[in-house]
Amino acid sequence: MIQKTLPAVPTTGHPARNRNFRTPEGISGFINTLVRAGVISEQQVADSIAFKRSRGETDRRQLFQILIDEFGVDREAVYGEFTRYYSFKTLDLSTMELTSERVAFIGQTLESLPAKLRAVAAANRILPFGLVENGAVKIQLITPDPINPELATIGRALPYPKYEVVYVSLKNFEELNREILVDTQNRPSALPMEFIDDDQDALVDELDEEIRRGHLAEMVDGIFADAVRVGASDIHVIPKGPRKTEIQFRIDGRLSLWQCIDDLRADAVSAVVKDAAKGPDRFERNMAQDGFVQKEVDGKLVRFRVSIIPIIGRELRMKLESIVIRVLQDPESRISIENIGFEAGTLKRFKAAIGKPHGIVVLTGPTGSGKSTTLLAAIRAVMDPSLNIITVEDPVEYFIDGTRQVKLNPKLGLEEALRAILRHDPDVVMVGEIRDKITADLAVKLANTGHLTFSTLHTNDAPGAIARLFKMGIEPFLLAYAVNIIVGQRLLRKLCDRCKVMEENIPRPILQSLGLSDEQIATGKFFRPVGCMHCIKGYKGRTAIHEALYITPAIRKLIMDSATKIDEDGIRETALREGMKPLREAAVELLRRGVTSVEEVAATTTTDALEDFSD
Ligand SMILES: [Zn+2]
Repeated sequence: MIQKTLPAVPTTGHPARNRNFRTPEGISGFINTLVRAGVISEQQVADSIAFKRSRGETDRRQLFQILIDEFGVDREAVYGEFTRYYSFKTLDLSTMELTSERVAFIGQTLESLPAKLRAVAAANRILPFGLVENGAVKIQLITPDPINPELATIGRALPYPKYEVVYVSLKNFEELNREILVDTQNRPSALPMEFIDDDQDALVDELDEEIRRGHLAEMVDGIFADAVRVGASDIHVIPKGPRKTEIQFRIDGRLSLWQCIDDLRADAVSAVVKDAAKGPDRFERNMAQDGFVQKEVDGKLVRFRVSIIPIIGRELRMKLESIVIRVLQDPESRISIENIGFEAGTLKRFKAAIGKPHGIVVLTGPTGSGKSTTLLAAIRAVMDPSLNIITVEDPVEYFIDGTRQVKLNPKLGLEEALRAILRHDPDVVMVGEIRDKITADLAVKLANTGHLTFSTLHTNDAPGAIARLFKMGIEPFLLAYAVNIIVGQRLLRKLCDRCKVMEENIPRPILQSLGLSDEQIATGKFFRPVGCMHCIKGYKGRTAIHEALYITPAIRKLIMDSATKIDEDGIRETALREGMKPLREAAVELLRRGVTSVEEVAATTTTDALEDFSD
C-alpha cells in the first residue's frame, strides 16, 4: 500500500498537554496570552466580549474567532499563539515539497470516504495528509481550524486506529487544496466499475432524503410490531421495482401481502431494515448478509433474525435485495408437551421416551413443521437444575433459560462442538439436526454413553427415520439400542371458529381418499373455511399432529435383524399393531371434529405431500 511508504511528517510543537480550550477559563487564559503577546489589545478584548454578549446564545463562536472575524485581528497571529498555547502540532507547508505521492495519498484517502463525509471535510477545511507511526498508526488531519468538532467525525471515519490534528495556516491549506482539486479532476477515477454503476455518492444523500420523506424508519418499526401482534413467523421485504416494495407476512405457514410501499425507493426501504439490524452493511449489495434486530413490542422484547440476499430486478442495473426477517418470539412460557397437540396415547409414549436417562429422541418432518417447538417443550419437560443440558443448533432458534446453548461460528463447527460436548459432562444434549454420518455417529455415541439426546431428521415419517439413520451408516445393533422414540410431526391450519361453516355435501370419494372409513364419514362433522376480519382466508392458528414410533422390543428386533436394508413396512406394520396412530389418522380426527378442513388434510398428509420433501 502506498500509504505505508509515505515518510513521517516532520511537525513542530509538543505532545498534547492540557487542552482545556473548550472551557471558558481556558479561553480567557488564552485571550490573556494574546494580549501579552501583543496580538490584540485590551480594548479589542472588551469590545469582543460586548459583541458576544449582544449576540447572546445565537453566536457560538469562541472569543478569539470573533476577534478574527469581526475585529480584523490577524488570523495567523492568533492561531500561531493558539497552537503554541494548546500544544497543537503545526506544519509549514511552504517549506515542504509537495510530492505526487502525497497528492495521490490525499486524493485516495478522501475518495475512501462516503460522499457525505467528503463534503463535511471540504466545508470544514480538513484534509488527510499523511501517516505517522508511533506505536499505533495515526492519520494526520491538517486544518487551519484545529478545534473544529468535525475533525473527530472525519478522523473516526478513516480506516486508521487513531488520528492526529495538525494545524496549517489558512493560506497553506488553500494552496494545497487547490492542487488536490486539480489533481482529482485530471486523474481518471481509480474506483472499480461497479462502484461507478452504483453511484454510491449520490446514493447516500438520496436514500437519507427518501427515508426522511417517507418516514420509513417509523414505518419499518410499525411493520416489526404488526408482525409480532398478528403472530407472523416471518416478514418478507420484497422489492417489486425501483419504487415499489411489498411487505409480506407469513402467518400460519402461508405468505400473504401485508403492505405495499409505493412511490419510495425500494433500496431506501432495505437500507432502513439493514440499519436496524446489527451486522449488515447498508452499502454492500453483492453479498448475502445476516443480522439481528431486537425490539420491544407491547412491553415484550422480541428478537428478529434478518437474512439479506441480492436479487435482480427488471431494471438489471439496479441492485435489489430480498430481505426475510424471522420473528423469534420468545417461546411463550406456556409451551409444554401437554399443550402442543399430542394425542393422549402419543403423549404417554413421548413422556416414557424422554423419561429415560439415555437414548435418542428424534423429531421428523419438513421444515416449518414445528419440530423446534416440540424439542423446546421436551427440554422443558426434562429440565432440572441438577442436570447439565447443552444445546447446539445452527442457528439458535430460541434462548432456553436453564440450558447452555453452544454458539457455532466459523471457528467452531457442529462436528467440533459435538466432540467438545462429549467431554463437557452433559446429561441432556439437544443437537439441532442430524445431517450426516458424523453427526449421527456422535448422537449415537452420546446416547450409548448414557446421555439423553434430542434431535431432528428430515424424513417423511417415523419409520423412514430409522432407514435414514441406517443409510447414514449407523450399525443396526447400535440403532436398535440408541433410539428411544421417533416422532413424525406436521402442522395443520385450524379453521377460524368465528366464520367456518358446516359442509354437508363433500363427495364421499374425496373423504375416502383421505382414508376415512364409512363409519367416520357418517359420524363426522365437516367444516369449510370462509374468511372474516379475525382470520386469514378462514384459517386462524395451527395445531400439530404426530405419529410416535416407540422403539418396543418387537421393533428393536426388526431393526437388529436388518442386514442390508431396514424393513420400513415391517416396522410400520408392527408399530401400528402396537398402537401407533399414523399422521393421516391424527389429521382425520381433527377433520372429523371440525378443527380443520378437507383441503388442509389433503395438503399435509396425502402421499404426495408426505413425499415431496424426501431427498
Ligand atoms: Zn374467520
